[in-house]
Amino acid sequence: MLEFIASIESSVRGYVRSFPTVFSTASGAWLTNSEGRRYLDFFAGAGALNYGHNPRCVKDALLDYIASDGILHSLDMATEAKVAFLRSFDSIILKPRGLDYRVQFTGPTGTNAVEAAIKLARKVTRRSHIVAFTNAYHGHSLGALALTGNRYYHDECYGSHNNVTHLPFDGYLGATDTSQLLEKLLDDRSSGLPMPAAVIVETIQGEGGIRVASTAWLQNLQRICAHHKILLIIDDIQVGNGRSGTFFSFEPAGIKPSMVCLSKSIGGGLPMSLVLIQPQFDQWQPGQHTGTFRGNNLAFVAGKAVLEYWKDNRLGEHVQSLSKWTEACLRGIVERYGDDTWSVRGRGMVWGLDVVSGAVAKCITARAFELGLIIETSGADDHVVKLLPPLTITDDELSLGLKLLEQAVREVVSEPPAMPPVAKIVTPISVPGCGYVNS
Ligand code: PMP
Repeated sequence: MLEFIASIESSVRGYVRSFPTVFSTASGAWLTNSEGRRYLDFFAGAGALNYGHNPRCVKDALLDYIASDGILHSLDMATEAKVAFLRSFDSIILKPRGLDYRVQFTGPTGTNAVEAAIKLARKVTRRSHIVAFTNAYHGHSLGALALTGNRYYHDECYGSHNNVTHLPFDGYLGATDTSQLLEKLLDDRSSGLPMPAAVIVETIQGEGGIRVASTAWLQNLQRICAHHKILLIIDDIQVGNGRSGTFFSFEPAGIKPSMVCLSKSIGGGLPMSLVLIQPQFDQWQPGQHTGTFRGNNLAFVAGKAVLEYWKDNRLGEHVQSLSKWTEACLRGIVERYGDDTWSVRGRGMVWGLDVVSGAVAKCITARAFELGLIIETSGADDHVVKLLPPLTITDDELSLGLKLLEQAVREVVSEPPAMPPVAKIVTPISVPGCGYVNS
């Protein structure tokens, strides 16, 4: 079957190369391939499956909706499914956080939400320039690509660098506070930096190698943007939806961005993207940023179902406890198998094991796959092993995945020290039907 895919699907295909098998079913944190082999998922659809594969609440809601001939496609007409989603989003997410935003549904990719946000910022401010950051990732259509740092995705002939300046993200220059550089460039009429319409930033850079912006840096960005009447756009596409431990990743910083881009898990595993816009900036004319597949009703139904997880703080607390455990395990791995160039970064349930070399990271993730663990790399040179399990993963499943990761690391580095230390943290586990795991 893989040969058939290789013969017919464009060479642009990517993840099938990292995980060369044909998947057939999935449940919770597990994928099963067509031969019945099970894989533990530490990738979770790059953050689109924060609630796991086929959560019960989503399946039930979708089956009911389809059985009752619910509307599937409606452009951006009003449907009961849309109203129900918006009511839940307002009452469960926005109101309790004191956030006042209009919701714009865009085409169902994160990239299209970014396109909409930067277009609107340009329209509102009558300025064309945008500031993005080193290692930023905002998508691949040409507007969003201009904001994305990694040269691998660029080609000069795309002509996609226009009207964007990349400035150093928090930590890029060591201890230097890079928000001061932004401030100085903006204050100085002769700096050469055009006054931008917007500053767009990920609070934790996912594809960029799990780089976490500090609270102080984010607060400085908000202050600087407000001073110069620049819109602050938070791209929460990968680390929103609870990934960082709170629903929005910027909550701990106490900031209120002008716009927020959300996608991935907002649709409960189905395609949906939106931009949250402070009301004074919602200056679109009807249909000015349109698209046939805005308003995916099945995603409204699934998205409403998973919002129920946020009615109390249990999921947030679960994420915090998994987070501490994951960090401790990763630090143990660095201590045992790395050297002082290796590092661990992250927050909530987005963690990176920076092994400095893309080749080493690739070997680790490839070996992990052989052992039954789906895990990806990120960073400029793909040198960071990125952990992105479903937030609903159980303690036992997380233990197993971390153990498999440790085994992969141990086998890849040349002189493996003795293994047991994980047992300090990991309780012994047996996973039924997981016969390929050497536990
Ligand atoms: N922004 C961020 C922060 C992302 O992580 C991604 C996807 N990885 C995107 C934008 C683009 O989203 P999509 O792939 O759905 O277009």
